Amino acid sequence: MKEQNRDTNPSISACSWQTYAKKVKPYLLKQSNFHCSYCDLYFQNRNLCEADHYKPKNQFLELEFEWNNLFACCPICNKQKDDDYKKYQNSPLPIRPDEAGYSFFKYFRFNFLTGEIIINENLKMADKTRAKNTIKYLGFNKGDKPTSRIRFLKNMRNYTNIYPSVSYRFIVECYK
Ligand SMILES: [Zn+2]
Repeated sequence: MKEQNRDTNPSISACSWQTYAKKVKPYLLKQSNFHCSYCDLYFQNRNLCEADHYKPKNQFLELEFEWNNLFACCPICNKQKDDDYKKYQNSPLPIRPDEAGYSFFKYFRFNFLTGEIIINENLKMADKTRAKNTIKYLGFNKGDKPTSRIRFLKNMRNYTNIYPSVSYRFIVECYK
C-alpha cells in the first residue's frame, strides 16, 4: 500500500450509511489502488471491498460520514479490527494508511511461513511501537487471517519462484 492521497473528497450526500457506503466505495478503491488499506490484500473481486470507519462508529458517531475517516478494507480486516480506538490514545497511536510517507513495507513484513504480518525490524524504536499498536488495532494476525493470507501467497508462489528477490507487493502489482 502506497500513501493514500485525500485530495479528492467526493462530497457525497446520503441519509443512510448503506447508501453512502455504496457511493463512496469506488472513490476509496481508487484511493487505495484497489488494495485493502490495512493488510494490503489486492481486491481481485472488487465487490468484496467494504468501507471501514477508521475510528469506529461506536466511539466516534460524528465521523460516520466523514470522508477522512473512511478506508477501503477487506471483509476479514473489517471483522478483526478492534472497535476500541480510545484505548490507544495514551500510547503511540496506530499508523493511518493515509499518513504522509506511509507505505505498507516501510512498517511491515510478511512472514511467509506463518502468514502473519510482522514489524519491519529496521524501524526506529518509536515507529516500532506504533507499528506494534497498528498490528494490534487492525487485528492483522487474529483468527483465521494468517491462514487465509498463506492461501493467497501460495497462489502467488509460482511468481515468487521466478522472482525470489522481489516483494509480494511488487508481484501483485505486476500481475493484477
Ligand atoms: Zn485487509
